[in-house]
Amino acid sequence: MKLILLGAPGAGKGSQATKIVEDFGIAHISTGDALRANIKAETELGKYAKSFIDKGQLVPDEVVVKIVADRIQQEDCKNGFLLDGFPRTVAQADALARLTDIDYVIDIEVDFSVIQARITGRRMCVCGETYHVSTYKSDVCAKCGKKLYQRDDDNEETVANRLDVYRKQTEPLIAYYAAQKKLVSVDGNRSIDDVYASIKDVLHGNR
Ligand code: AMP
Repeated sequence: MKLILLGAPGAGKGSQATKIVEDFGIAHISTGDALRANIKAETELGKYAKSFIDKGQLVPDEVVVKIVADRIQQEDCKNGFLLDGFPRTVAQADALARLTDIDYVIDIEVDFSVIQARITGRRMCVCGETYHVSTYKSDVCAKCGKKLYQRDDDNEETVANRLDVYRKQTEPLIAYYAAQKKLVSVDGNRSIDDVYASIKDVLHGNR
């Protein structure tokens, strides 16, 4: 099974991705995570990508397409994979179509009015868990005990840019995949578990 999770920043793609890959035994490919790993390791690619990420802009298409093209060749993708945060432009979607076929495109729809608060209150753990300050009061991860941190680009100003970029460059993908009859939308303004129940219905062919 090969699927794409679409949705604005803060729509809950990462939270849903964690559940889907666990249940369906497929690989999780997050271009954002891959770029952040490069930044942390201070690679040339990381230094280049950081200049875009810090401003809330997209990293150039050829950089992320190469990451995905290499990644989907790996052994753990044989069973399928989930793309989280890719494609983000029509050019990336066209490049992906030249690399492989996709079975499902799930768009997690959220009201823009809730996104700013969702993202600026978001706290992450290196193990992949995410929390929100409104519902989680500790600063260590409940799962692995490591200290939580806030992403550098989860501040108000960068989030505003990221939402603008999403509207202009990524939102057109909804029509792009709808035209290919691959798109299914789920209401993301609900709890993580409720959204996941809807996604499971789609992936089990019940919707
Ligand atoms: P994310 O973790 O998916 O929110 O991505 C964080 C940042 O990484 C984005 O704001 C972009 O700057 C960059 N990025 C991640 N995925 C892509 C992509 N597919 N195309 C271009 N830039 C990306």
